[in-house]
Amino acid sequence: MNRPSSVPSTLSERQTVALFGGTFNPVHFGHLRMALELKDVLGFDEMRLLPSHQPVHRAAPGVTADARRDMLALAVENCPSLQLDERELQRQGPTYTVDTLEELRAELGDDVSISFCMGLDSLLGLPDWHHWERLIQLAHLVVVTRPGWQLPRDGEVAELLAAHRGEAPDLKAQAAGSILLREQTLLPISATGIRSLIAAGRSPQYLLPERVLDYIQTHQLYKSDNN
Ligand code: ATP
Repeated sequence: MNRPSSVPSTLSERQTVALFGGTFNPVHFGHLRMALELKDVLGFDEMRLLPSHQPVHRAAPGVTADARRDMLALAVENCPSLQLDERELQRQGPTYTVDTLEELRAELGDDVSISFCMGLDSLLGLPDWHHWERLIQLAHLVVVTRPGWQLPRDGEVAELLAAHRGEAPDLKAQAAGSILLREQTLLPISATGIRSLIAAGRSPQYLLPERVLDYIQTHQLYKSDNN
């Protein structure tokens, strides 16, 4: 197919890869809808769900990293738009986001656009992250804000926003370096809520994929109250 000559080739050809990280303990429709909507609205070529190691003190008893990975794999099995990226689980122990992005950047090369998706609460805590100033050099940050949330007026995050706040086309035009704020209403579902329902002997049906629920029941997950 002929491309109109007015469209710069870099704009139409740069690959865009997005990462949606979390503990996914368990994955639910809130995560899946958010990942899918971000992919569709922002036009990413790939949207990868990136399960993280869970700190030992926060892990639900009996729920291994393998189980979280298996549930995610079941959740995206019939969704070609979402991929699973297991790199953080394959490393020994917790890893820093900056290391993951360095690794991905080395794999994909300097030209591919990488976007790391996070909630505004994560952005506000960014200065506590390992080598946080490096993140914006390696990737774009796509920050999902809930209606009514306030942005900081001063401090390190306000300065970061002032220097890097951008618009959706930046995600295609550059490989990294922009912060995109997207206001989006979240489905009122949380993994904590699902674990509490199960521990209380109630059903989380319709909050997460049926196959994930089957897995939870087969493996008797989240039955203990201590999660
Ligand atoms: P927990 O209740 O255990 O803290 P969670 O349901 O918030 O878990 P996480 O695995 O901590 O899920 O979150 C992964 C990512 O999904 C984070 O970026 C988080 O902001 C986002 N997220 C969590 N719940 C929702 C939701 N209902 N809709 C959209 N995004 C969500």
